[in-house]
Amino acid sequence: MSQRTERICNKGHHYFKSSDCPTCPVCEEEKKSKAGIFAPLSAPAQRAMEANSITSLEQLAKYSEKEILRFHGLGKASIPTLKKLLSEKGLSFKA
Ligand SMILES: [Zn+2]
Repeated sequence: MSQRTERICNKGHHYFKSSDCPTCPVCEEEKKSKAGIFAPLSAPAQRAMEANSITSLEQLAKYSEKEILRFHGLGKASIPTLKKLLSEKGLSFKA
C-alpha cells in the first residue's frame, strides 16, 4: 500500500499524491485546456499567443494577419494553421 499524502500546490489546489512528483493535477489540466485551441501550433507560436494574452479564437480574430506576424515567435508557417482554426469557428483575421 502506497502512502498518499495531501499536498497543496503554489496555486492553492489540494491534491493527493503517492509519489514525490510535484505536479499538481489541477494545474496540469488547466495547462492542457489552455494549450488546447492552439495545440496545433509550434511551441514558440503558442508562447507568442500566451505572451499577447490571446486565449481564444475570438480574441485572435481581433488582429490582422500583419499584426499577428509581428508577435515574437510567430512565423509565417503558423498563419495557415491559424486561418484554419479561425475558419472552423466561422471567424477570420481582421482585414
Ligand atoms: Zn495546482
